[in-house]
Amino acid sequence: MLIVTDPAAGVKSGGLDAVRRQTDGRDVFVFDGVEENPSFATIEAGRDAALRSRAELVIGIGGGSPMDAAKGIAMLAANKGPLREYMQGRPLEAPPLPVACVPTTSGTGSEVTPYAVFTDRDQRNKVGYSHPGLFPVFSVVDPELTYSMPEALVIHTGLDVLTHALESYLSEASFGLNDAMALHVIEAVLENLKAAAAKEPQAMDRMAYASTAAGICIIHGGTILLHIMAYPLTVFYGVPHGLANALLLPRFLDFMREKSWVKDKVARLDRFFAPEGGVEAYLENLGVQTGLSRIGVKEDELAIFAEKTIVKSDVHITPAPVTEAEIVDIYRASL
Ligand code: NAP
Ligand code: FE
Repeated sequence: MLIVTDPAAGVKSGGLDAVRRQTDGRDVFVFDGVEENPSFATIEAGRDAALRSRAELVIGIGGGSPMDAAKGIAMLAANKGPLREYMQGRPLEAPPLPVACVPTTSGTGSEVTPYAVFTDRDQRNKVGYSHPGLFPVFSVVDPELTYSMPEALVIHTGLDVLTHALESYLSEASFGLNDAMALHVIEAVLENLKAAAAKEPQAMDRMAYASTAAGICIIHGGTILLHIMAYPLTVFYGVPHGLANALLLPRFLDFMREKSWVKDKVARLDRFFAPEGGVEAYLENLGVQTGLSRIGVKEDELAIFAEKTIVKSDVHITPAPVTEAEIVDIYRASL
């Protein structure tokens, strides 16, 4: 089997040792070359490792980056083409190798989803991919593996959990049961994220639970406009994924409050943030300062960001009339 991890997360979290103990006596190879927001080239290098080691199972240990990389490697180990072609719609010739996941952040929910996100560095683009064969065959969610996260990582990944729940709740693809679960996750994040950032174990345990539950929400409802608008902030400015979502969240909610056809749902979200003084105050209280100009984003880049966003399929499950001009407006208001 092949373990896929990043240079530090597998070791710092204790996840790599834990998996090695469980797999003692079997042929285990480790590919630890995964960077944050894994590139196409990394996934292809991982394929070579999978083929050399004749892996029959790929285990991702880490945050979303190693878990998604494990999924990409499992796909390419069974399919000979370049990753780019599959991302552009070429059907898989064979199902991916089975994947198992061991999360070390409380963020992406990749341990339960059929999704993987890769970065096309040449085209400066993040590409989301979904295939039923990428549902992990099993995952081990052990909150203790998240205890080594530094405070900022707890907050950034926790805000990814919050936005997964919030976007899947608003999504056109959601339905009653999913709505209920999403609201339950939002409540759990609001109750626990601050304490989790202060490294209180019980709160970190609840965030691990919320992260996996939010993963289940996005299996059903997906993420919508906010996530795809956040991708360029990561690709162009290296903003961590969860933080990128958070920086756009206040103005995204303004847009939904004004233009969406789920205003009752937006009002319900507003009621969650009201005791915190509103969403912006909630973020500030976590130490997150919104304002894209702080990270160097310039007005003349916004059209390029919008061009990259409008072509993504998640636009179609966003319950609002989304145009390129409106996307630019949301970015501009977030400067
Ligand atoms: P990540 O990119 O996997 O990890 C960020 C950094 O966290 C790592 O480089 C590592 O830093 C550190 N780290 C991880 N676990 C740690 C631990 N337990 N203790 C100490 N440090 C730890 O972050 P992520 O936010 O979990 O994943 C983001 C990726 O997932 C993005 O590519 C995003 O697009 C994707 N995503 C996927 C889905 C899905 O459904 N598949 C959903 C949302 C997002 P060091 O190496 O410096 O230690
Ligand atoms: Fe996310």
